[in-house]
Amino acid sequence: MDFKKRMPPLSVTEREALAAGDVWWEKELFSGQPQWQHLLAMPVSQLTSEEESFLKNQVETLCNMIDDWQIVYHEHDLPKAVWDYLKKERFFGLVIPKQYGGLGFSALAHSTVVVKIASRSVSVAINTMVPNSLGPGELLLHYGTQQQKSYYLPRLASGEEIPCFGLTEPRAGSDAGSLTDSGIVCHGEYQGKQVLGIRLSWEKRYITLAPIATVLGIAFHLYDPDHLLSTKEDIGITLSLIPTNHKGVEIGNRHLPSYLAFMNGPTRGKDVFIPMEWIIGGVEMAGQGWRMLMECLSIGRAISLPALSTACGKMTFRMTGAYAQLRKQFNMPIAQFEGVEEALANMAGYTYLLEACRLLTVSAIDQKIKPATASAIAKYQMTELARKVISHAMDIHGGHAVQVGPRNYLAHAHLSTPISITVEGANILTRNMIIFGQGAIRCHPYILQEIELINGPAVSSQGLRRILFSHAGYLIKNIFRSFYYGLTAGKLISVSISGPTARYYRQLTRMSTALALLADSLMLILGGKLKRKECISARLADILSELYLASAALKYAQQHHHAKEDLTYLSWCIPMCLYNIQTACEGLFANFPWPWLGKILSWLIFPWGRSYKKPKDNLAQHMVKIMTVPSEFRDRLTCYAYTNTDAAKKLEAALSQVAAIDPIWKKFQSAMRDGKVKKWRNVEEQMQEALKQNILTASEVNALCEYDKLITEIIKVDEFSFDLRKVV
Ligand SMILES: Cc1cc2nc3c(=O)[nH]c(=O)nc-3n(C[C@H](O)[C@H](O)[C@H](O)COP(=O)(O)OP(=O)(O)OC[C@H]3O[C@@H](n4cnc5c(N)ncnc54)[C@H](O)[C@@H]3O)c2cc1C
Repeated sequence: MDFKKRMPPLSVTEREALAAGDVWWEKELFSGQPQWQHLLAMPVSQLTSEEESFLKNQVETLCNMIDDWQIVYHEHDLPKAVWDYLKKERFFGLVIPKQYGGLGFSALAHSTVVVKIASRSVSVAINTMVPNSLGPGELLLHYGTQQQKSYYLPRLASGEEIPCFGLTEPRAGSDAGSLTDSGIVCHGEYQGKQVLGIRLSWEKRYITLAPIATVLGIAFHLYDPDHLLSTKEDIGITLSLIPTNHKGVEIGNRHLPSYLAFMNGPTRGKDVFIPMEWIIGGVEMAGQGWRMLMECLSIGRAISLPALSTACGKMTFRMTGAYAQLRKQFNMPIAQFEGVEEALANMAGYTYLLEACRLLTVSAIDQKIKPATASAIAKYQMTELARKVISHAMDIHGGHAVQVGPRNYLAHAHLSTPISITVEGANILTRNMIIFGQGAIRCHPYILQEIELINGPAVSSQGLRRILFSHAGYLIKNIFRSFYYGLTAGKLISVSISGPTARYYRQLTRMSTALALLADSLMLILGGKLKRKECISARLADILSELYLASAALKYAQQHHHAKEDLTYLSWCIPMCLYNIQTACEGLFANFPWPWLGKILSWLIFPWGRSYKKPKDNLAQHMVKIMTVPSEFRDRLTCYAYTNTDAAKKLEAALSQVAAIDPIWKKFQSAMRDGKVKKWRNVEEQMQEALKQNILTASEVNALCEYDKLITEIIKVDEFSFDLRKVV
C-alpha cells in the first residue's frame, strides 16, 4: 500500500494550526479506553472572593444601568455612562495581569462575567468580551515585546485604548488563512526619520469594535522582495498593531449585525507605512501570525461564545420555566401539556449540558491548557445548543416572544444566535472540517507520527514499520473490543467507578471504542480524501463532541455529589448524547465508502441492533417539575444569570406564590364549574361573589386578586403608537 498517497498532505497553515494548542481530555475520548478517573480528578476552577465580589457588585451595577431596549432600538450604542463605567471598573482588562493594571481574573471569572452581562444584554456583553478575547490584549500578553506590553496593556486595561482585531476580508472569511491583505518590507518615513518598515494595504470587514477602536490589530501576509530582513521573500502571515489615528487608516463606518447595538464595521488602508516595531512580538515574530492566532483561538473560543451560549441557557431556563408554569391555557399551566413539557425538558437538559461544558472547558484554561479540539467542540456544540434552547423558549412563549418591546426578554437573544454560530469558525465548517479533521490527527495515538514520518525529509522505513505495526495492533484490539462490548451490551466493561452513574461510564467507553474503530477504518479507506468527505468527518465529529458533552455532564454531577436532581438531569442528558452518537454511527454505516464494510461494522458495534433510545416522555415530567418551581437546584443551574429585571422580578414573585395560590384557585374554579359563580362576570365581580357565598375568605380573595394582577402584568406585551419610537 502506498502510504504516502493515503496519508493526508498537510499545508503550512494546517501544520501551524496542528502545532498550536494542546491535546487534553479529547485524546482520552478518542483512545477507545478513556480513563474516567482522570476526568473526575481534574481540578475544577473556583471563583476567588475578589472575583465573587466583582460579580456581585460591579457586574450587578453594570447590569442595573442597562436598558437593552433603549440601547438596541433607540441609541444603537451604549450610553456614555455605561462606556465610562466599563472603562472605570476595568471590564476591558479582565484578563490583563494586575501588574499591568488589569484585574488578572481566571478564565472562570472571565466567562462568568460574560454570562452575567449577556443574560442582561448581548450587545453589552459582546462589546465587553471582545477586548478580553482574541485580539490585541491577548496577543500582546502571549507574544508582545516587553516594550509593547508596558505601553499597551495598562492603556487597554483602563479603556484608554479600545482594541479591535481584523482578520476577515471580503474574500477570505472561513478560509482566513488565504487572506490577501499584504505588506511589503521597505524603508519609509516615520516620525521624521527613514526607518525599516512595512507598506501595508488592507480591506477588512465585520470587525467588532472597529468603529470606535483606537488601536487596530491586523493580520496580513508579509513579503520581503528586496530581502531587507532575510533571504526569504514570502515571510508569511504577520500580526501588527496600528493606532487608528495613524495616517492612512480608514475606520469609522458601521455594520448592523442582526440589528444589535454592539460596534462592528469595516476598516481599510492603502499603502500605509508602519514601522517594523509595530509587529506584535517585534520583527522576530514576522511570519508567525497564523500560529499565534490559532493558539489564542484555542483559548478565546473556549470562553466567549460558550459564555454567551450558557447565558442564553440560564436566562431562558429560568424565565421560560416560570412563564410556562404561570401562563394558563385550557385552565392549566401550559407547562403541563405534554408538547410544552417536551420542549421544556429539552431546554432543561441542554442548559445542564451548557453549564457543565462551560465549567469543564474553562477549568482546562485555568490549568494553563490550550485545549484546541475541546474548544472547537465547545464553540460548535454550545452555540448549537443555545440555538435550540432559544427556539424552544420562543415557541413556549408564543406571541409573547414575538412581539418586541421593552418587556420582551427573548427577542435579542434570538437575534444574536446567528452571530455566535458564525464567528470564531462558522459552525458548518467547525463541525464538518475542524473538530474531527484536527481532532483525529492530534488525538489519534499514531496518525500524526505516521504523517510526520511519511512526509518527513527522510522516510525511516524501520521507524515507520514499527508505528504501523503498533497501529495495526491498536486497530485489531478495537475490533475485538467493539464486538465484545456490543455482544455484552457494554454491561461488563470495567470502569473503576461505582454507584448510579457507573452504567453511563460503561456505555460511553463502549462508544469511545466504536469511535476509535470507525475513525481508523475510515482513515484507512479514505486517507487524505477524508478531508473532502465532510459529511463523514462531521459524523465522526458528532461522536467525539457528544462524548465530550456527556463527560462534562458527569463531571458536573460528580462535583455536586450526585444530588437527586443531578441524577434526574443526567438520566436525560447521557441517554440523549448516546442516542445522538448512535444516530451519527448509523449515518456512517449507511454512507460507508465500502458499503459491505459499513454493514460489518454496524454488526460488530451494534450486534443486537439499536442500543440507545431517546429519554422517555415521563422523564420530561420530572425534569420540568424541577425547572418550574423555586428550588436550590434551579438557583444553582441558573446562578449568575441577572434576575433584577422587571420581568424577572414579576415572574419570580408570581412563581413563589403558586403553591399557596393553587388550592385557592382550584376552589374558585370548582365553584365556577358548579355554577355558584357566574362566568360572564369580570374577575373582580366573580371574586366578590365567591366571598359573598363563603366560597373564599377575604384574605383568599385578596391573595387571588393580587396574584391575578401580577399575571396580567406578566402576560402583557408592549403596544406602540404609529410613531414606533413611542411606547404607549
Ligand atoms: C457579528 C460579527 C462579528 C465579527 N467579528 C470579527 C472580528 O472582530 N474580527 C474578524 O476578523 N472577523 C470577525 N467576524 C468575521 C467572522 O469570523 C466570519 O464571518 C467567519 O469567519 C465566517 O466567514 P464568512 O462570514 O465570510 O462566511 P463564509 O466563509 O462565506 O462561509 C459561509 C458558510 O460556508 C461554510 N463553509 C465555508 N467553508 C467551508 C468548508 N470548507 N466546509 C464546510 N463549510 C464551509 C461556513 O461554515 C458558513 O456556513 C465577525 C463576523 C460577524 C458576523
